Amino acid sequence: LLFSQLSLSRPLLRGVASLGYASPTPVQSSCIPPALARRDLCASAVTGSGKTAAFLLPILERCLQARSSAAPATRALVITPTRELAAQGLSMLLGLAKFTDVKSMLVVGGAKNMPAQAAELRARPDVVVGTPGRLLDHITNTAAFDLDDLEILVLDEADRLLELGFVEEVTEIIKACPAKRQTMLFSATFGTKVDDLVSLSLKRPVRVKV
Ligand code: AMP
Repeated sequence: LLFSQLSLSRPLLRGVASLGYASPTPVQSSCIPPALARRDLCASAVTGSGKTAAFLLPILERCLQARSSAAPATRALVITPTRELAAQGLSMLLGLAKFTDVKSMLVVGGAKNMPAQAAELRARPDVVVGTPGRLLDHITNTAAFDLDDLEILVLDEADRLLELGFVEEVTEIIKACPAKRQTMLFSATFGTKVDDLVSLSLKRPVRVKV
């Protein structure tokens, strides 16, 4: 299978090529078609499987499709367990989106002061990638993060999110998201707690195991 067979827009195929990816990894081949069809997704995938591009490409495709509506809107949110993972995700996003005008933003603790971050969020970047605590801060405290237009939510490394003790923050963020949305959950392992998060966040998910 080739990336060009995955119904992705030309600028995204150029982004993929610019990162040197020749063909999709198994998790990308399995996840991208149902994700483009707007299905919820529950995927068992480890770091190194190519899972990040598996959710970023469908997110970018959706942002490009929404370009006709005039007002800027934050359409996708990616929640990751650590600052490092969020930064890596954003860097891959910038690479894949290089030939588009999609705007993205990193929302993690420590990086930037709250007022500067709040101002950037109020400008409504298309995609936000961040860690649970700081994201929730901007939803409840600064009220800078408006989730009204959110179309896609990604829970990346769900097992680590729970291991690191973020269950309450993640639950609150999910509840603040519009009920009508697409959700994709990725986890290396599954157990009772991840299953609870699956039930809370996903509707009739396509299950992917590679
Ligand atoms: P991830 O599992 O998302 O953390 O990705 C692991 C690594 O694989 C990253 O360094 C990506 O740049 C790389 N990668 C992702 N997709 C592909 C692909 N289709 N072909 C080659 N490398 C890839």
